[in-house]
Amino acid sequence: MTRPWNFGPGPATLPEAVLRTAADEMLDWHGSGMSVMEMSHRGKEFMTIIERAEADLRELMAVPSNYKVLFMQGGAIAENAIIPLNLAGKNPKIDFVETGSWTTKSLKEARRYGDINVAASSLDEHAAQGKYTGIPSFDEWRLRSDAAYLHLCSNETIDGVEYFDWPDMAALGAPDVPIVADVSSDILSRPMDVSKFGLLFGGAQKNIGPSGLTIVIVRDDLLDQAQAACPSAFQYKTVAENGSMFNTPPTYPIYIAGLVFQWLKQQGGVAEIERRNIAKAALLYDALDASSFYVNHVERNVRSRMNVPFFLADEALNDAFLAGAKARGLLQLKGHKSVGGMRASIYNAMPIEGVQALVDYLREFERTRA
Ligand SMILES: *Cc1c(COP(=O)(O)O)cnc(C)c1O
Repeated sequence: MTRPWNFGPGPATLPEAVLRTAADEMLDWHGSGMSVMEMSHRGKEFMTIIERAEADLRELMAVPSNYKVLFMQGGAIAENAIIPLNLAGKNPKIDFVETGSWTTKSLKEARRYGDINVAASSLDEHAAQGKYTGIPSFDEWRLRSDAAYLHLCSNETIDGVEYFDWPDMAALGAPDVPIVADVSSDILSRPMDVSKFGLLFGGAQKNIGPSGLTIVIVRDDLLDQAQAACPSAFQYKTVAENGSMFNTPPTYPIYIAGLVFQWLKQQGGVAEIERRNIAKAALLYDALDASSFYVNHVERNVRSRMNVPFFLADEALNDAFLAGAKARGLLQLKGHKSVGGMRASIYNAMPIEGVQALVDYLREFERTRA
């Protein structure tokens, strides 16, 4: 039995081996007589699961010891409020770099909790017809040296724009300003130097596991900057002091995330998965670029390896394209409603065979419809 290839942006495809393990362990986890869903979060069985998940994530990302790993809930959208509530208590100044739909949404929410400065926006010069296509160059960023933090999004899931280089905050006149990055859709897709950031956060449902789990990796010195109104269950210091168990954590998503971390280690870790992701992205972009039947508008140096938006030159063929794709077992290729067209999300769990199947279909559809 082979499953279709699922290009959905999130919740997204998971490694088949992980789903099979979860199926095998559904009724009885390791002889405990319980499903993971039925266990006490404080019992010794679940403690084994969460401790191993944290240790494996720390190993995969080489998280330094002065950072906490928090397993939270609410997703990245809730973090848009939870972050300023935690980090802008003593200093309300928050800088943003706007590069796509997610940073635009994040900064709108943060306005309710802080004093926002848009240090740079790709809508100024890196956009076409109101769509984001690039990242403003670092020397154009107008940062405040006394901001509480700078928020950016490492991979704009909707627009297909990804950073491959990080700003040197000292060179930009803001040496003490920590970078906060929304890594929802490219976490674990490549090595990332955690020490360059004050905080990394993301929902799990793109590259890690089921929705309902939010990962927060936060430097110790940022744990004690919260606004008084910050809810206790969302206060990083409280969550950290309680080992992510101030409230009941999302136990089943943490278990699946742990299986994905083990799978990733078996694949050779993030360096090996990056090598595969580069090959997958190159295969797909080369196929799109080789034909005028398809087009991707994103500037080449920042094209996302995870989310590849593209358009048919003749948009009247969109429905036929999607129907033909589905018939060939290529699922969820429709673009985000704000951008239109198509989008292929090719996260860690998508093997190159899936991307090859999509490329074969692109050629076949062009041959029969052009
Ligand atoms: C999916 C996504 C979000 C939204 O996450 P939710 O879990 O729906 O809150 C935010 N930011 C980025 C970059 C995303 O890809």
